[in-house]
Amino acid sequence: MADKRNITVAFGDGIGPEIMQATLDILDAAGTPLIYDQIEIGEKVYLRGITSGIEESSWDSLRRNKVFLKAPITTPQGGGYKSLNVTTRKTLGLFANVRPIRSFYPFIKTHHPIIDMVIIRENEEDLYAGIEHQQTQEVVQALKLISHPGSERIIRYAFEYAKAYGRKKVTCLTKDNIMKHTDGLFHKLFDQIGEEYPNIKRDHMIIDIGSAIIADKPGTLDVVVTENLYGDIVSDIAAQITGSVGLGGSSNVGKSVAMFEAIHGSAPDIAGDGIANPSGLLNGAVMMLVHLGMPDYARKVRNAWLKTIEQGIHTRDIYNEEISKRLVNTKGFTDAVISNLGEVPLTLAPARFEVQTEPNFFPELAPLPRKKKELVGVDVFIDWDKNDRNPDVIGDGLKAASSSLKIQLKMITNRGVKVYPDGLPETYKTDHWRCRFTATEAVNNEDVVTLLSALHTAGYDVVKTENLYTFDGERGYSLAQGE
Ligand code: NAD
Repeated sequence: MADKRNITVAFGDGIGPEIMQATLDILDAAGTPLIYDQIEIGEKVYLRGITSGIEESSWDSLRRNKVFLKAPITTPQGGGYKSLNVTTRKTLGLFANVRPIRSFYPFIKTHHPIIDMVIIRENEEDLYAGIEHQQTQEVVQALKLISHPGSERIIRYAFEYAKAYGRKKVTCLTKDNIMKHTDGLFHKLFDQIGEEYPNIKRDHMIIDIGSAIIADKPGTLDVVVTENLYGDIVSDIAAQITGSVGLGGSSNVGKSVAMFEAIHGSAPDIAGDGIANPSGLLNGAVMMLVHLGMPDYARKVRNAWLKTIEQGIHTRDIYNEEISKRLVNTKGFTDAVISNLGEVPLTLAPARFEVQTEPNFFPELAPLPRKKKELVGVDVFIDWDKNDRNPDVIGDGLKAASSSLKIQLKMITNRGVKVYPDGLPETYKTDHWRCRFTATEAVNNEDVVTLLSALHTAGYDVVKTENLYTFDGERGYSLAQGE
């Protein structure tokens, strides 16, 4: 008998309390040696004026227990409330989101009888940094931040996961044909790190065709690794095509803490009706048992659940007259799973959680050798709405203002397209001008300040600057369309 283990649980909002109770009843009936420390999160906490949705004191429980089973919560509409999921992931460094996606054909209706993939999504970076600014009346920007260590960690995690669970292939999804620096870094690291795993096949797809393949030929995919936003989107597509988003569990894993939950939300439309399907949270709990080093309990619970699905005992969301045998509510489903504890499914493949090799999910990353960084220019973003937005007027003006300086105007783009010199009249122009100034000799930040001061004196409204660097002589910025 394993030692008792404390975990933190939160019952959440909407259907949260119903599916959490069902899940804990099943875990208890299976004899799992768990003690539940409850914390309160979500709507009630938000409405007490705590914009993060979690009390400060709850972090202590999470940091002490290191394992969090979380029911879905409702984020109140309106401004000011921060996503609790994003806060939890970032605060506790839960960098990997892991979503195993399987179909349960022929017991749950799907167009794709064979799906068995795991989507591993980077959880902390990308556009989820939430750094957004309105720069001009017409233009708003969001910053996409991709880091070398952040990408390396998730890509290593994906290969280690594949190795440990005997999976054959890792597919990377990016849009590096367009975002050559951010997505280009992710893809480059995928190729480099993949070299260290010669027994695992690897391929890369552009996210658009990759999403189409997930929707149309999901059986060809095994482990998928991708950035935060793409992962958010494709994992819901993948979950939906198995027949229901209500079935899948997900883990958010970091070096010291891990959080387990259902993929779906708090379903306020059916809250309190007692009809919610607890399967998503239960499958999240199964992942938690594996994480806790309790694969026997994980197998017991998962097999009982598979058996219940196979028996056609279905909640309303997956009930299908041609396939299902008995329509049950949350309680009926829970009782059926409990009575199946100790059974194995007959048609569906039974659960296997044996790790085949010792994974090294959190290797210390080697520090990167510092490269020689050289300032070679600056992109100055200007809010300008004069002279019918004629690019030659702003171009000639900026040229004159910088002609005697060490950093001089090279070209201007509007929404990324070159409009000066030699732009086309057909190109649409907003009030937001990216003006690229390049150095004619060695320069430093003081020369940038001198340039900005000259532009200010000449009457230009600078809304942002972005320095242009080379690293060991390699260009660290994208060229403009037409540059
Ligand atoms: P949702 O996933 O809650 O519901 C979508 C649809 O699926 C609804 O018709 C719902 O009844 C149904 N459904 C979902 N889970 C079900 C289950 N277990 N059994 C039966 N039917 C189920 O998505 P939504 O309606 O877009 O969001 C509702 C709330 O949930 C929002 O406040 C949202 O912010 C929140 N949310 C929370 C999480 C989380 O806590 N991890 C995730 C997503 C959404």
